[in-house]
Formats: sequence, C-alpha cells, structure tokens
Amino acid sequence: MATDIDPIGPCGPAINAPTSGSSARAESDRRPHAVIIGSGFGGLAAALRLLARGFRVTVLERLDRPGGRGRVFKQDGYTFDAGPTIITAPFLLHELWELFGRRLEDDVTLKALNPFYKIRFADGDEMAFSDDPEAMRREVMRVAPDDLGGYERFFKSSEEIFRYGFMKLGFQPFSTLGSMAKATPKLLKLGAYWSVYQYISRYVKSEKLRIAMSFHPLFIGGNPFSVTSTYCLINFMEREWGVHFVMGGTGALVDAMVKLIREEGGSLHFDSEVARIRLDGKKANGVVLASGEEIDADLVVSNADMAWTYRKLLPENAKGRWTGRKSVKSRYSMGLFIWYFGTNRRYDHVAHHSILLGPRYKGLLVDIFKKKKLAADFSLYLYRPTATDPSLAPEGGDAFYALSPVPNLLGDTDWTEQAETYRQGIADYLEETLMPGLQDAVVTERVQTPLDFRDQLLSYHGAGFGLEPVIHQSAWFRPHNKSEDFENLYLVGAGTHPGAGVPGVICSARILDDVVPDPTFFLREKAAS
Ligand SMILES: Cc1cc2nc3c(=O)[nH]c(=O)nc-3n(C[C@H](O)[C@H](O)[C@H](O)COP(=O)(O)OP(=O)(O)OC[C@H]3O[C@@H](n4cnc5c(N)ncnc54)[C@H](O)[C@@H]3O)c2cc1C
Repeated sequence: MATDIDPIGPCGPAINAPTSGSSARAESDRRPHAVIIGSGFGGLAAALRLLARGFRVTVLERLDRPGGRGRVFKQDGYTFDAGPTIITAPFLLHELWELFGRRLEDDVTLKALNPFYKIRFADGDEMAFSDDPEAMRREVMRVAPDDLGGYERFFKSSEEIFRYGFMKLGFQPFSTLGSMAKATPKLLKLGAYWSVYQYISRYVKSEKLRIAMSFHPLFIGGNPFSVTSTYCLINFMEREWGVHFVMGGTGALVDAMVKLIREEGGSLHFDSEVARIRLDGKKANGVVLASGEEIDADLVVSNADMAWTYRKLLPENAKGRWTGRKSVKSRYSMGLFIWYFGTNRRYDHVAHHSILLGPRYKGLLVDIFKKKKLAADFSLYLYRPTATDPSLAPEGGDAFYALSPVPNLLGDTDWTEQAETYRQGIADYLEETLMPGLQDAVVTERVQTPLDFRDQLLSYHGAGFGLEPVIHQSAWFRPHNKSEDFENLYLVGAGTHPGAGVPGVICSARILDDVVPDPTFFLREKAAS
C-alpha cells in the first residue's frame, strides 16, 4: 500500500505509515473491515461513524492530502482553503466527536460570524446579512422598504421548510419508492414544485431582495431558478445556527477529523487511488488500487464522485440503475473558476464573506446552466478569512479567493486558453470596485478551473458540486446511500442523498447508521461463507 505521508506539514496530523506490524495487527483484528474511497467531508464523517460502531476502517485517498474539495493549498506563507468556507449546522460536527465521548471544542475553534456576509449589488449598494432581527429589519427597510412584511412572512414559512426538509428528510435514507411516496404530499404542501427564486418572489417584490435571498443554492451547485424551493431551508438554517468560521481555516477542521480518525484507531492512506471496486457476483468485497494492490473489505463506502464510482470503478458490464446511461443523462452542477491570491497589504474594509453581484442575474445563470456559455460578465463570491484569522497570511497581508460560477465541461470553453483572460477580468473588476491597487499587491496566486475538478477530484464534467440538486434528482431519485445496484456498497458525499454542502455530505454519512447493518451481520456472513 502507498505510504501514508503527512501532507499537511508540521501542524498536520501525525505520521501513520503502515508497517509490517500494522498489517499483522490488521490480520488479527476480527472487526469487519470497511474500506472508504476518498477523504472528502463525507468520507471522513463515514469513517468516524463506522469506527464508532465497531468496524475496522481504512480510508484511501488518491490525492496527497485529505479533504477533497475542502483540501488546503499552502504557498509562500499563505494558507488557502480550496473550497468550503461557510460552516452551518455545527451540531453535525459536535455529534461526530460525541460518538467517542469527546468534545469538538477541544480540537476545533468555531467562530460565529456577524454579519454573516455582505452583498454588493451592481450599482454599488450594499446589504449586510446577520442573525440580528433588528439589524435585518433596518437593512430590508433601507433596500426595499415595501417588502419588510413579505420578508418576515418568508422567514416564518422557511422555518417549516427547514424543519421538514432538513431535520426530517435530510436524515432519512430514501432507499424505497414508498419513502418518497410518503414524503410527497408534505413536499407539495410546502410548495416544493416552486423554484427557490419563484418561492421568494411570492413574498418580496424588490429584485435586489429577491437576489439577495435566493443565491444560496449556488453554494451547493443549484440554479436558484430551477432548484426546488425546499432549499429555502438554507436561509432559515443560517438564522437558526449561524454562519461559522473554523479558526485556522476549514482545513483545520479536516485536520481535526483526520486526527480523530487516527486516534480512534482508523487509518488513512494518501496517494492511494482506487482503480476498481472488486465484486463477487453483485457483492462488493474489496478494492483494487491503481498500483495493483488488492485490499479485502466486508463493505466498501465510496466518497468518490457518484458518476466516477458507477462508471469507472465498477465493471462496464455490471448492469445496474446507475452504471449505464442514467448517470450519463443526469444533470450535473455548474463548474467553478476560483482565483486564490495573497496580498502584501491588508484590505480591512473587505468583509470575511462578500457576494459581489454583476449586472445580470437570471441571464447569467441561463448562460451558465442552460447555454453552458462562458459569459463576459460574472458575479463573485469573495472570501477573506484573514478578516477573522490573520494567521492565514504573513503579517500585514491578506489571503483571498474569488469564486465565479461558470459552465461545467459540457460547454465548449477551453480553460487552457481562457483561464488567464478570465482571471485578469476578475482582477480588473476587483481593483476597480473594491480593492484599489490590488494587482500590485498580489504576491502569490493560483487558479482552479473545471479542468482541475475533473482531473484532480475526478468530478464528472468538471462539475463543482456533482449531480445538480433539481427535484427529479433529489431524495429517492438521487443515487441511494445504500447502492441500488450492488450489495455491501454504500455511497456518501455530494452526489448521493441528501446532496452537496458540508452539512449535506455529513448527513449522508449519518444515514449509514440506518443502512449499514451492525458488525455482527458481517461476522455472521463471513462465518457462513
Ligand atoms: C469552491 C467551493 C466552495 C464551497 N463552499 C461551501 C461552503 O462554504 N459551505 C458548504 O457547506 N459547502 C461548500 N461547498 C460544497 C462542499 O465543499 C462539498 O459539497 C463537499 O465538501 C463535498 O464533499 P464530498 O464528501 O462529496 O467529497 P469531495 O470533497 O468531493 O471529496 C472526494 C474525495 O474522493 C477522492 N477520490 C475520488 N476518486 C477516488 C479514487 N478512485 N480513489 C481514491 N480517492 C478518490 C478525491 O480525491 C476527493 O478527495 C463548496 C464547494 C466548493 C468546490
């Protein structure tokens, strides 16, 4: 097996190289063996849940570091979170530590942000969102005075959506059509057939407010004009539990999960690509690494991209619901262009999270999701973690990333040609609007395009978030957490139920508690064979 290096550097998890002693221990270990493919948040959470239930757990990651979309790039003294930056529903993290009678706060410092984020409209007007109802009323009165009543009515209705859509449906497996049929009447009653934008528009008239309240699904790969209004639960979730930042960056949370897995007896191996899930008939019984090494398993949990799992890791002739055209025909989320940059000066007026809106909203989303055409204009999410934790940049500097939703690779953009021009457009815009002198202040930088999502994360069509969260690809219609096609194969992560986002993928691992039988089942199965 590939060596288990410590990719994070001196502050990262302890080195845990497998030795002949450790393989001898594995042989004498009678616990059923769960092999997890991938160390995204879904894979790490799955490892913890299965360890807590008494499985022997091995996580195999093809990259040289953990976290998947949540990995970290360190360069020239700057620390860049590659992907997720906003932590909502922190109770899901607390639960993972509590499985072992431990406390999250002993390993991770979460800081509640207020305001959550600032939105800058194309005309330069700004609006700050927070959990302070008085401050929010003042902001709504300033931007859209006629909409205050509608805004408050929307939040009342989003609470019901949240209680049902997140607290109930997000935690149940949806393995059977019956479970979908049972949920449907309530979903219809809640107006799940409206899109997020349509639902919000029934309450508020101001286009500015409609945009400010409806962009959230973009953080999980959904188009606000087509994603089901059930995702209005995000608005309420932010209010209910706040918007949190992990001190040290999201990578510090990844490190803490890796450390917890190791301390509780699990093992993780990097530079270990799984080439194939081994089958005995229709039953998964191990994996074959790209190196040719085989690892036996009682169950396999794939945190790899759903389409990659079904189309590349399983034999082409293994017929099933997702192995064939269904995964090809499915709709995949948009791509992402991300410019990471470090400056040698601080931009103290720039908030921790900013949404910088361009001149078009619906038209831009049509270009991205439907026409799959790279537009000249854009809207950005600008992340400045050094607003809260200056240790992520050398003294006197700032670490940033600017993210722009773009078409996935089904469009014809040639990113090897376009990346620099697109980056320059973003840099010019930021310099002209918010960050004077920016281009002289940048001392280190890198970009990620949909090509990186395809080539590094093995994401189908270079999608930023896997399968698009439209209603006909949600709940029962999404690939199940317990594979419909193969026994002893389970799926966690963005492409399975309930969907993308850190809370979503951690919920997918939580659902394993319902669908993976107890270790005794696998021991009995082994004894019988
Ligand atoms: C730029 C960006 C910003 C985001 N912002 C937020 C945010 O603020 N808040 C939020 O909640 N969510 C956010 N998200 C979404 C969230 O990050 C993702 O939905 C989530 O992290 C995906 O986790 P996952 O478990 O699906 O695994 P992934 O992160 O997709 O990881 C899968 C892992 O599997 C590995 N792998 C794949 N194939 C193999 C193989 N064959 N063998 C071995 N290993 C393999 C990959 O290398 C990867 O490490 C953001 C996403 C992006 C990209």
